[in-house]
Amino acid sequence: AGMDMGIVNAGMLEVYEEIPPEMLEKVEDVILNRRPDATEILVDYAEQFKGQAGGAKKAEIDLSWRNESVEKRLEHALLKGITDFINEDTAEALAKLGKPLSVIEGPLMDGMSVVGDLFGAGKMFLPQVVKSARVMKQSVAYLQPYMEQEKLANPAQRSAGKIVLATVKGDVHDIGKNIVGIVLACNGFEVTDMGVMVPCQKILDKAVEVGADVIGLSGLITPSLDEMVHVASEMERLGFKQPLLIGGATTSAAHTAIKIAPKYSGSVVHVLDASRSVPVTTSLLSEDQRAGFIKANEERHAKLREEYGKKKDRELLSLAESRAKGQKFDWSTQEIATPSFTGTKTYEGTDLIATLRDFIDWSPFFHSWELRGRWIPAEGRFSSAHEDPEMKAKAEAEALKLYQDANALLDRIIAEKRFTARGVFGLFPANSVGDDIEVYSDESRTQVRTVFHTLRQQVIKKDKPNYALSDYIAPKDSDRADHIGGFCVGIHGGDEFAKEFEAAHDPYHGILTKAIADRLAEAFAEYLHQQARFAWGYEKPGDFANADLIKENYRGIRPAPGYPAQPDHTEKPILFALLDATAKTGVELTESMAMHPGSAVSGLYFAHPEAHYFGISVLGKDQVEDYAARKGMTVEEMERWLGPWLGY
Ligand code: SAH
Repeated sequence: AGMDMGIVNAGMLEVYEEIPPEMLEKVEDVILNRRPDATEILVDYAEQFKGQAGGAKKAEIDLSWRNESVEKRLEHALLKGITDFINEDTAEALAKLGKPLSVIEGPLMDGMSVVGDLFGAGKMFLPQVVKSARVMKQSVAYLQPYMEQEKLANPAQRSAGKIVLATVKGDVHDIGKNIVGIVLACNGFEVTDMGVMVPCQKILDKAVEVGADVIGLSGLITPSLDEMVHVASEMERLGFKQPLLIGGATTSAAHTAIKIAPKYSGSVVHVLDASRSVPVTTSLLSEDQRAGFIKANEERHAKLREEYGKKKDRELLSLAESRAKGQKFDWSTQEIATPSFTGTKTYEGTDLIATLRDFIDWSPFFHSWELRGRWIPAEGRFSSAHEDPEMKAKAEAEALKLYQDANALLDRIIAEKRFTARGVFGLFPANSVGDDIEVYSDESRTQVRTVFHTLRQQVIKKDKPNYALSDYIAPKDSDRADHIGGFCVGIHGGDEFAKEFEAAHDPYHGILTKAIADRLAEAFAEYLHQQARFAWGYEKPGDFANADLIKENYRGIRPAPGYPAQPDHTEKPILFALLDATAKTGVELTESMAMHPGSAVSGLYFAHPEAHYFGISVLGKDQVEDYAARKGMTVEEMERWLGPWLGY
């Protein structure tokens, strides 16, 4: 209608249908140029909102919704995640409807189903859903004392189905699983969340005890994949029939199809993220949809197995050929940094948290809330990857609220000394010997203190070397004095603080706490790495602004065991022993080599100017045999730890 450009304040965007009709008409008159006096009318109309300028903040304390019926108020509170009036509204609803169950099954469930629908349709974001769940939980908590007697008389609660969720033995994956639990509960499922590091037998016993309709397993690190296979086999052996859901960072549709599903005659479904958990579970439990859903799932699995078969046949270089194609340097002239000390340095304290805050990379924080995009530190805003402009603006506004809540919580964590950061890094004399790295007791390099083992790429590459991390350390026979570093950091107190929130029916701040602890652990790794570079002498304070560290444009890398350049988790105990990491940081290794507490990072430092991250891809049997022999492990043991990387 003649307009060339408009500027939108993302922070003020409203749901279109929720703009009061009178206001909407006047605004549309202006934007769509519907009448000549539109501007004047709008300016006059705007008079009554004087003093509310500044927008979003003020709009939030618009209390006109308080004049609605109590049912409407509860729905509004759920939709907007407002807990301010929840007790009084719940009390009023209880008085009006008579029974606590009528409140839960009436306005609360109705409100949550609106939330569930909007989330399912991609019109609401995860942080909003979790805030809605907080409203629901607080209302139910208020009703709880009134419910005790009634429950006996009225056991048949409306439930879409019962689900037992657990992170498998040896793994500490938490945030994603908690989110799935909340999202499912919002959609009327009865969720029993068993927490982390749960042995198979316990999961299955619980499933029998509660009469679970579905079992969901979660895991973050690769050894958990094996544990999931084990659970599936046990379900088969014990005659379970219910569907098994698989989720978590390390899981994939392919692994689910190839390794897990064949072990169990019931349905096994990979669930990509929290937003998929509801449609998947609903389909599995719906009489009408089940058959079609299972058929589609099985067809998907068959296709994945077929693709896998093709990938297996991929030709690899022999280990000897790969070694010949490793990255070579002229060690006689290669510049090698010499650290100002060898041995370890320990960092510990509650005050450290305030320092680490400045090193946080916020983008992954938003990803844990399923908000895709990136944080732009210089502009203090989140740039959403949403394609739809309206949704993009909404996601960005939601991200900003999340960021503000996280920072308010961080203020509190620091003021109340809730978290303790404990970390250690060490620098040690080292040389490579083949694909291994020998660490020496002192600069005389006569006594081998420990050995790190590295894996080498065997895929056929056109013109790039076949990398192994050992390439970045001067070989023993070069007679050059090189060094390697190692580190381990942990943030303590996150789980405990989160529990307090969970006990207060506030899952939003519970998850926020854990997500912040994770961020601080990564920030700590970034901070210590910088300290190590200072010690190595090739970087000095001020060379990089904190905000630029996230680009990792500095010299050197800190590859973590279990990640693509060194996927073998069993290198962790070697690193931990060298650093005396558990005593110095309180971080422990589980039987699957997960670090506990979950907010922990460990890895090696390489200072070589050309050191960079790479992925090992798949390994040939010759290398796995050689590697197992070097590590003093059996080939079978090694194959178990390297499962997903075996190219045969
Ligand atoms: N700024 C990020 C840092 C974590 S991801 C955050 O706050 O989350 C990057 C880290 O993952 C690296 O520093 C390294 O420790 C590890 N990493 C990434 N790619 C890797 C690879 N190919 N091999 C080994 N470790 C890798």
